[in-house]
Parts: sequence; C-alpha cells; structure tokens
Amino acid sequence: MNILVTGGAGYIGSHTCVELLNAGYDVISIDNFSNSKRDVIDKIKIITNKDFKFYEGDCRDKDILSRIFIENKNDAVIHFAGYKAVGESVKEPLKYYRNNLDSTITLLEVMKENNCKNFVFSSSATVYGKPKTLPIKEDFPLSTTNPYGTTKLIIEGILRDLYKSDNTWSIAILRYFNPIGAHKSGLIGENPNDIPNNLMPYIVKVANNELGTLSIFGNDYDTKDGTGVRDYIHVVDLAKGHIKAIEKVLNETGCDAYNLGTGNGYSVLEIVNTFMKVNNVDVNYRITDRRPGDIDACYADPSYAKEKLNWKAELGIDEMCKDSYNFVKVLRKNK
Ligand code: NAD
Ligand code: UDP
Repeated sequence: MNILVTGGAGYIGSHTCVELLNAGYDVISIDNFSNSKRDVIDKIKIITNKDFKFYEGDCRDKDILSRIFIENKNDAVIHFAGYKAVGESVKEPLKYYRNNLDSTITLLEVMKENNCKNFVFSSSATVYGKPKTLPIKEDFPLSTTNPYGTTKLIIEGILRDLYKSDNTWSIAILRYFNPIGAHKSGLIGENPNDIPNNLMPYIVKVANNELGTLSIFGNDYDTKDGTGVRDYIHVVDLAKGHIKAIEKVLNETGCDAYNLGTGNGYSVLEIVNTFMKVNNVDVNYRITDRRPGDIDACYADPSYAKEKLNWKAELGIDEMCKDSYNFVKVLRKNK
C-alpha cells in the first residue's frame, strides 16, 4: 500500500513516516522544508533501515502534486503540511489562510482527479475553543480564537462538504492534543529554529542552557496548582494513531473526527518538576502574567478513538520528558 505523506519532514510527519515504514507501508512524501530540515529524511531512513520516495515541493503547487500521482499509485494521503504557530497566525493571518487552505484544497483536487479518496487530516484540539466542561468529546461545540485554529475548522468543514457531495470518500479528522517527546533513537524530534512558543521545546532549551529562564504563564488558573493544564501525548503514540486511521480509511467510507490524546491533564508545574526529576537537570523558571488567549485546562476524552480506531496512547509523562531531552542531547552530541 502506498501512502502519500505531506509535511513528512516535520515533527509529527517524520515520526509517522517511521511508523508507516515499520508497519510495512510504502511511503511517498513531500515537504518544502519551510519548517523542517532536509536531514530528517535521511534520519527516517536510518531509523527504519528502509528507503522511500521523497519530493521537495509545495503542496500549493498542483503540477508537482499531479506528477506525484502520475509517478505513484497512492492508496491514501496523510496531510500534515501546514503552518502551526498560533501567535504568528494572529500577526500574519493571510499567510496562514493561504498556506493551510490552498495546500489542502489543491491536494484534494488532485486526489479527486486521480480517484484517490482516502484522506487523514491533522486537525487540533484548538477547534474546541474554550470548552465548557472536561474531558472534551468529539461532539462538543466548535469555535476558535485565532486564525490558525480557524484554518483547521474551515478545513474540517470542507472535508464534511466533500464527503456529503460524494460519499465514496473516506476521511479521518484527527484532533491532536499536545504532542511532545521524540523517537527513542534521539534522531528525530521537535527542533524549532526560533524561540519556541510551546512549553516542552522551551523547557528543553532552558535545560540545555540555550535559553535562560522559563516563564510560567500564570499560577492563578482554576486548576490543581494554578498553572495551565493540558493533555500531553507522546509523539510516537500520536504517530501510531495515524496507522490506525489509515487502516480505517482504507477499509470503510465516511467522514469522522477523533480525539488523539491520553485523557490525562498535567499542569505546567507538574511537567517542569517531572522533567527535572527524570532527567536529573535543573530548569530555571519564574511565574509571569497569563499569556493572552490561554485557557485553564484542556484534556481529551479519547474513548471514541479507542472504540472506532482501536487506538490508545501507551506512553506516560516520564517517557515524554525523557525522550524530549534525549533528542537535544543526541543533537548536541552529533553537532
Ligand atoms: P511541523 O511544522 O513540524 O511540520 C509541518 C511540515 O509541513 C514542515 O516540515 C513544513 O516544512 C511542511 N510544510 C508546511 N507548508 C507546506 C507546504 N505548503 N508544502 C509542503 N510542505 C509544507 O508541524 P507538526 O508539529 O509536525 O504538525 C503537523 C500538522 O499537525 C500541522 O498541520 C499542524 O497544524 C498539526 N498540529 C500540530 C500540533 C502540534 O502541537 N505540533 C497540534 C495540533 C495539530
Ligand atoms: N506555557 C508556559 N510557558 C511557556 C509556554 C507555555 O507556561 O513558555 C504554558 C501555557 O500557558 C499552557 C501550557 O504551558 O498552559 C501549554 O502551552 P503550549 O503553548 O505548549 O500549548 P497550548 O497552549 O497550545 O495548548
């Protein structure tokens, strides 16, 4: 079975390529490296000891997508390619709407032209806005607070309309909670070029003395210790969820959304303390003001994914913290 992976050099895409190759799928991937590094492709090959076809290109470019479909019979597509920085999306909304919407629509058009109708899409828990109750179920009301989230919500709507128009499509919308961690080898992981926005890459850089102090954004939330609570999920568990979603879309038609989270909420302080304990390293932090737009708490009810995809996260917070740090240690050693 051939699976086309867009954004395959990215954080979640690279881990998913590894899991696909390990599961015996043939992978074809495209990335424009706008937020990733070329050497990730070789690292996926080293980890799996398998080769796969890679195209450097942009998913907004219909010609290259058509060429990929002429040169390969793709059975299904997993679409990771897109921009994901919430803050940047507020400053540059057009950049986000152009890239995330255009790449998806172009890709779906080319898929339709080539009669490939099996699609797995990277959505996000951000589509739940500020949930009224927890844990979050898939049928909760949807709303967004920033242009990045709105691109995800719009695409979810496009996918539902597409299925309504032609119910031979088979579409899995995966709503990720907070992916952290890295592959055990330490060869691939999250490696932002700029100052990180997300918690774990920031903690890692402070522990690695690349940044001075972690700001904990508020300790007056309505949570167990006052700091924000999120559902952190190991990226390898998340990648495995894509294998289950591929099995689903290859076997039945439909259009459905699934939460990919663990169901556990951890506070910022719990994450920082666990990170320090399991890695035996200090992380300087101070409490600062709340970050605008943040919510108190967010965690999944993952039972629908268990029921429909037969998927469940297996790895705990200790492994997530250990593997996140191991990735930068390996990176530093190999420099
Ligand atoms: P990432 O930035 O590491 O990976 C995305 C990849 O897509 C990058 O390699 C980038 O170079 C590539 N890309 C971007 N636009 C492209 C285009 N037009 N053509 C070709 N390649 C392009 O991000 P990630 O964390 O791996 O996220 C993957 C997907 O999951 C994204 O759609 C993101 O919005 C979604 N998501 C991520 C998170 C998270 O916290 N990481 C949470 C929820 C949803
Ligand atoms: N956070 C923090 N300091 C940082 C980055 C994040 O205290 O430098 C907090 C943030 O307020 C939230 C949690 O960590 O409570 C997770 O934030 P992240 O940006 O990683 O994910 P998201 O807010 O998108 O769920």
